[in-house]
This record gives sequence, C-alpha cells and structure tokens, in this order.
Amino acid sequence: MAHLLFLGSGSAFTVGGDNFHSNMFLITETGKKLLIDCGSDLRFSLYKEGFSHRDITDIYISHLHSDHAGGLEYVGLTTKFDPQCDQPNLYLSYEIATEIWEHTLSGGMGSVEGEITNLESFFNVHSIDNNRHFVWETINFELVKTIHINNGTYVMPSYGLFFSVNNQKIFITSDTQLCYEKLQKYYQEADIIFHDCEISKYPTPVHSHYQQLVKLPDNIKQKIWLYGYQPRELPNAKADGFLGFVKRGDQFLIN
Ligand SMILES: [Zn+2]
Repeated sequence: MAHLLFLGSGSAFTVGGDNFHSNMFLITETGKKLLIDCGSDLRFSLYKEGFSHRDITDIYISHLHSDHAGGLEYVGLTTKFDPQCDQPNLYLSYEIATEIWEHTLSGGMGSVEGEITNLESFFNVHSIDNNRHFVWETINFELVKTIHINNGTYVMPSYGLFFSVNNQKIFITSDTQLCYEKLQKYYQEADIIFHDCEISKYPTPVHSHYQQLVKLPDNIKQKIWLYGYQPRELPNAKADGFLGFVKRGDQFLIN
C-alpha cells in the first residue's frame, strides 16, 4: 500500500490561487517518501502540507524545467547545513545527470564557504542508465521516455514513471505532448494514469491539451486523473469521461 500526495497540480507558471507546481510525494506504508519532481515552488508547497526540507530523503527528477528541478538548490543547501539531515538520494536519467549540475544548479551551488562543490556534495546521485529502471523501497520504477520538447535537433530528455504497488499499476506522464500511439502499451496496462493536461486558451505544442485528451478512447479516459493545468476555470472532466482534475493536497491510495 502507498499514497500519492500532490503538493501541487498546477502548470509551470501558475500564479495566485491556491495551487503550486505539479510535484508529488509517493508515501509508503512505513512513511518513506519519494519526492517526484522538485520545482521552485517546493518550499511553499511543502509547508502548506505541513512538511519541511527534513522530509526530503529521496527525489526523482523527470526533466530540467524549473517547475520540476528548480527546487533542488533549496533542498540541497538546506539539507547540507542541517545536522539532522542525511544527504538525500537523487534518482534521474543519466541523460540529465551531468546537465542538471553543469547547466542548472552549479551557478548557485558550485561554491559554498571553504568548498568547491559538485552534485555529489549535496545528493547521493543514482544515475539511471539505458535500462531505464530503478528500485526504491522495493518498488520497481520504469522511466517512460516522453516527447515534451523537440527543438528541431533532438528531443529534450524527459521521463514519466510507470510502477506498480501490490497489483495496481500507475503511470505518471510528467510533462509530455500527447503520445498516445507511441506509448499505448503504458496507457493500456495502467490502472490509473496521472496525465499532464494543459487547459490554456492558447495551446502550446509541448503539453497535452484537454481538447486532445478528450478525444482519447473512453476506456482510457476513465483511468485518467488530469494535472499540470493553468489557473483558470476547469472544464467538466467527469462529464467528459475522465476521473477528474487533481487538486492541490489530493491524496490517492494505491494498493
Ligand atoms: Zn516541462
């Protein structure tokens, strides 16, 4: 048994209202917590749910946008200088393990008083190789490569997660364009899908828009919870055949 707790369910540029970046805790029966993505809103979303940096022991990062990785400076520095904290474990694809330091974090974290630092100065780094699996607390996670942003030369690395707890199979897409054909196996196999969902008036090409998702087969829609949306009036997802929109603070039992 485990719980998935959404610290936020909003999009990258969510402002105002009562929502934060779409970061979540997977919490085991024994209370161990895996933070799935660590955006720059994290210090607010954590406290809103009664947690602090001391609750962060294990982190998975899907990709390098700041709503998914921008909170690592806060976590890395606060845990390093808090004697009550062990160094957190950081799980991420090898494709972003170097980049996250060299192009995202080193500017702010590369020097602390009396020390030149690297990623391992703050985190126990678990770089996930091409077999795209890691095990945390006996749960086997498969990294699912999505198409989030194609810059014309290559597809920026971004990975959702597929895992099961007891007999229930969960697919968390993280940020993705709708790739239903390409990833159909995961859509079919999953019992519950937590799906990136943009609802903006002016759709971007890099997220799955509600108007696309609504065209998915009924048997797929009835497994989907939607998250990652903009702060505006929500469509009636239940009437359209989905499970609904995830709200900040929602908790899902997985067993
Ligand atoms: Zn993104």
